[in-house]
Amino acid sequence: MIHEVIAQLDNGVSWLQTLLYIDVVQPLFYKFGWMGYDEDTYDALYWVVIGGLQVVLMYVLLRPLEALRPLETWQNRRVLRADVIYTWIGKLGVINLVFFMLLQPLFFQLQSLMTIHNIPNIDIDSVWPGVTDQPLVSFTIYLILLDFAGYWYHRWQHRFGVWWELHAVHHSQQQMSLWCDDRNHFVDDIIQAAFFAAISLFIGVQPSQFVVLVAVGNFLQSVQHVNANLPFGWVLERILVSPQFHRRHHAIGYGHEGTRYGCNFGVLFPWWDMMFGTASWNREVEPTGIRDQLAAPQGTARSYGEGVLAQQWTAFERIVERLRGRRVYTSDIVG
Ligand SMILES: [Zn+2]
Ligand SMILES: [Zn+2]
Repeated sequence: MIHEVIAQLDNGVSWLQTLLYIDVVQPLFYKFGWMGYDEDTYDALYWVVIGGLQVVLMYVLLRPLEALRPLETWQNRRVLRADVIYTWIGKLGVINLVFFMLLQPLFFQLQSLMTIHNIPNIDIDSVWPGVTDQPLVSFTIYLILLDFAGYWYHRWQHRFGVWWELHAVHHSQQQMSLWCDDRNHFVDDIIQAAFFAAISLFIGVQPSQFVVLVAVGNFLQSVQHVNANLPFGWVLERILVSPQFHRRHHAIGYGHEGTRYGCNFGVLFPWWDMMFGTASWNREVEPTGIRDQLAAPQGTARSYGEGVLAQQWTAFERIVERLRGRRVYTSDIVG
């Protein structure tokens, strides 16, 4: 049943991909004489279509929810503009494209080195024939393994100072909304793509499953950032990361404080937080952001940048300051 649905969706996406290719890309490429890039562009369009559909789905399902049951009311929606730009950059596969251009050769090398030196990759499908080779079973196993890796990746983003400065771009949004998930430092995005690609290669995720894994994961993470009152209830919030659970991770003074300890790092499942003692189920709605952003005496009214470019650039400046040991961060010492 589920593979039929996926096959149907795949057909639909391929149809849109071909349509876009014939009606938009090909005429443009003929005009500018870029026919050499033809085939790669056709493949990349698959991700563009998936990303475009995701944004449409987010807007249709989550935006009305924010309008009808807002958790926080804001006067100024202008600060969301940067997040919308991040969403389009992320969803249209710009980051993936850079990743493939920069790191794909390295991955091919890694792959052939693994074959030459007979380094086995864990082949989930053959662990229990008849069970783990069922697409739904292997999909679930991959999802859980990648989520476990994601939990640790996220903890390290908070643990190491330089890495935190990159991740601070995500946390510096004080008006969390459905657009907030892709608000990340691009360098961190590329490191993350490499991290997950390496693990996927090692555990033998099939490319067709990888697309679905990424799409499901992305959509659930957009739900987590929604500015809407969406209680999951006791049971569901222990199965899937809820907006309440993730909002706690963004709460000033609770979820994270620079390189100090935080809570609720789970990406899709809260199980790892429960297992490693980092879960907080407090439902209080707290202001979100980074303590430094608050006016004195709680913070230093620090700016993390208004637009996309300013946010990207100031992260580098903060890293340089940190490495020179010039500045004492309130977010590091108060907690
Ligand atoms: Zn975080
Ligand atoms: Zn978040």
